[in-house]
Amino acid sequence: VRLVNVRKVYGTTANPVAALDGVTLGLPSGSFTAVMGPSGSGKSTFLQCAAGLDLPTTGRVYIQGEELAGNSEAVLTKFRRQRVGFVFQQFNLLPTLTVMQNVTLPLRLAGRKIDRRRCREILGRVGLGDRLDHRPAELSGGQQQRVAIARALVTDPRVVFADEPTGALDSRSAREVLELLRESVQVYDQTVVMVTHDPVAASYADSVVFLVDGRLAGGLDNPTADAVA
Ligand code: ADP
Ligand code: ADP
Repeated sequence: VRLVNVRKVYGTTANPVAALDGVTLGLPSGSFTAVMGPSGSGKSTFLQCAAGLDLPTTGRVYIQGEELAGNSEAVLTKFRRQRVGFVFQQFNLLPTLTVMQNVTLPLRLAGRKIDRRRCREILGRVGLGDRLDHRPAELSGGQQQRVAIARALVTDPRVVFADEPTGALDSRSAREVLELLRESVQVYDQTVVMVTHDPVAASYADSVVFLVDGRLAGGLDNPTADAVA
């Protein structure tokens, strides 16, 4: 994932708000990066632009060497469905679908073959092999977020974007979720980009970047990352 001089401006011409103001950053394949910063510093905007959910006002964003700008919305949607996975603070599971149906949904949306054995295997990996027919409301928050992680991983994305994935969880559930994200990086060589307020969550990442007023405030290698795994 590479951002080059990314600027994102909201608001009117008379009253522009630069949510991102000249962000240049490369996140190596197979890395786990935490994005931190005060409220309003541009973290969500960063994630949206880096994931191709939104396009920058100026500047360039590349995923796997491919530039996102210049593509139609349809091409961007297809790109997201094939290459990236998302995990949200509020899980965003579909309440009327079972756990299994939630997990197979990205495959359906992408028009891909539903390999039920593989879906069961992924749900087993996140510790929910015995909850396939449950609805989200029958699960704890931590279990729901693990379903969301299975859903994000089922397409075997190269990059997983997580927006405050532990923000609604107790500390034990948060650790389980963070360990799954870490495993995605270490075992499956995926790239994870996680926005978080929580220093404990950030300590699971290999590196931390800080945003202040839409600008990078210098990153640092995470000294505690090795100790956590
Ligand atoms: P964070 O995630 O760090 O809280 P955001 O990326 O949500 O920060 O917001 C960065 C800045 O951009 C803030 O000043 C916010 O008010 C503004 N902003 C974000 N989204 C919009 C929008 N859709 N319209 C107008 N301003 C926005
Ligand atoms: P849209 O149809 O609004 O352009 P998408 O089809 O890209 O959006 O995604 C719709 C929603 O489906 C996303 O917000 C996300 O919750 C979920 N989703 C899409 N692709 C994936 C994926 N690869 N992994 C997990 N969830 C996904």
